[in-house]
Amino acid sequence: MKITDLKCTVIGDNPVVRIVTDEGISGYGEVESYKPYLVPHVLHFKPALLGQDPTNVERVMLRIRQRGGFKPWGSAVSAIEMALWDVAGKAAGLPVYKLLGGKVRDRVRVYNGAVREPMTGYTPADFAENTARMKARPEGFTIVKQAIAFHGPMRTQVPNFFYGEPEQVPLAGTLIRGLLTERGLNHVVACVAAMKEVLGDEVGLALDCGPGWAVPDAIRLARALEPLHPLWLEDLITGDYVPYVSADVYREVTRASTVPIHTGEQIYLRHNFKGLIEGHAVHIVGPDPCDVGGIAELKWVAEYADLHGILIAPHGTGNGLLGLAALVQVCATLPSNFIAFEYPIGKPAWWYDIVRGLPDPIVQDGHIEVWDRPGMGVDFDVEAAAAYLPEADRDFFA
Ligand SMILES: [Mg+2]
Repeated sequence: MKITDLKCTVIGDNPVVRIVTDEGISGYGEVESYKPYLVPHVLHFKPALLGQDPTNVERVMLRIRQRGGFKPWGSAVSAIEMALWDVAGKAAGLPVYKLLGGKVRDRVRVYNGAVREPMTGYTPADFAENTARMKARPEGFTIVKQAIAFHGPMRTQVPNFFYGEPEQVPLAGTLIRGLLTERGLNHVVACVAAMKEVLGDEVGLALDCGPGWAVPDAIRLARALEPLHPLWLEDLITGDYVPYVSADVYREVTRASTVPIHTGEQIYLRHNFKGLIEGHAVHIVGPDPCDVGGIAELKWVAEYADLHGILIAPHGTGNGLLGLAALVQVCATLPSNFIAFEYPIGKPAWWYDIVRGLPDPIVQDGHIEVWDRPGMGVDFDVEAAAAYLPEADRDFFA
């Protein structure tokens, strides 16, 4: 089998990659949402892929892997990797999880970091009200993630939150840092306590916190929250779009309390997890298959983390429905250091009308049943999807 074309377009908010072969099989991958600027980055890999056998996934990846970087620059390589696995599975007539070593679980746990209810404000009462609505959702999520402090508007909405400038920059993931005021820290702790009051010990509470915390604040936060048993504190130091790791700084925070410390959604490649894993600098890593370099890359990180007693909860919020399928396939194969992955949703909602193969409902009791169709197990309803193609890419499915 040979690759005859590489295509990329934007459907809704997500760039979508299509690998075309000479045997009539196509493979699809998806880039995290809001990155239309990555289409040319994807397409520049075309000469390196043409004529290659897509079922030799690793051999193809060796040709392109060096041209990725931390988020968002790992997305193109990652989406191509997923499309290759999709082809390889379809060609073999097997679900991708079989090609990754087989499943070790029949259903995978997901956590809610993307199904949002609008916030009414940023007081403890607002967080309690919002969290109650999350708890009541029909998906029955067993873990809910909420954004606090430097992750989200709290830093600008709470007066005197920190000793820095709460700048508004029209780019996601702009790194704003600073020492918290005593009021700011008290406010964060009060909001977490209010959410825990709602969730009790029935539903786990994960907290996306930064990046941007100063080390002493991060330690004070972790120690203050110890009695509340949050499931993890995410991205206190680096994360999001930060193009470095700072494993040594994380280690200082992680050693200071018993609250699980989590990071890694922006990191590209296994090599860049070395410091976190070998240095025992966090308790949980959270690579995103759409940014880390693909699903086999994510599995490698998971296995290496497991050797070191470190847990994994993969990121996935903007990965769309093809990204969801990829997460289901790889997470079915991870060792038991797997906690849950972040459940991506289709945006806009018509995405659910153009993808076939997903269960209905998708999430039950906070889990997704692993399906057995070949490849990633989902495909486009080409006729329905074609209606949403940009004018310039009308031939995407041709
Ligand atoms: Mg995060």
